[in-house]
Amino acid sequence: MTAGPYHVSPAALKRPYWCAATSVPRFLCKLNVMAFVITDPCINTKDTACVDVCPVDCIHPRKDEPEFEQTTILYIHPEECIDCGACVPACPVAAIYDGPDTTPKSQTSLIEANAIFRSGEPDTLAKAEALVSAHVAAHPELMAIPPADRASAHTK
Ligand code: SF4
Repeated sequence: MTAGPYHVSPAALKRPYWCAATSVPRFLCKLNVMAFVITDPCINTKDTACVDVCPVDCIHPRKDEPEFEQTTILYIHPEECIDCGACVPACPVAAIYDGPDTTPKSQTSLIEANAIFRSGEPDTLAKAEALVSAHVAAHPELMAIPPADRASAHTK
């Protein structure tokens, strides 16, 4: 299968028709719920390889955006993500999950952080980063693990 702007990943095709998070059909769920989710291995890593491969430029902040130095993690815009899956293998620390249903429970607060952040909006940056800070405080055991090994310690 060729990757391109309208490619849909096999993982996305395998998702249930109903969204577990909201109990509504997934195509409606997509309007309100995060698609792909960046989780804690990205904290203070911000490699941005995912930004480079995203065909719709929906991962922020980019290195050339003013918020880049202010954030501890990158965020995926929930409505702009087209579920192509290109960012998942690009991430060197395996931080990206293909949706809320597959994101480990320990990472739940980061689903909301991804859903809140909007590039260029200081308010949403502050709210999203507060969630990330709370996640860091709640999971010292994960933060003690080097980012490259952290995803393997995520539990469902
Ligand atoms: Fe961008 Fe990843 Fe969404 Fe594809 S799956 S559109 S690469 S954020």
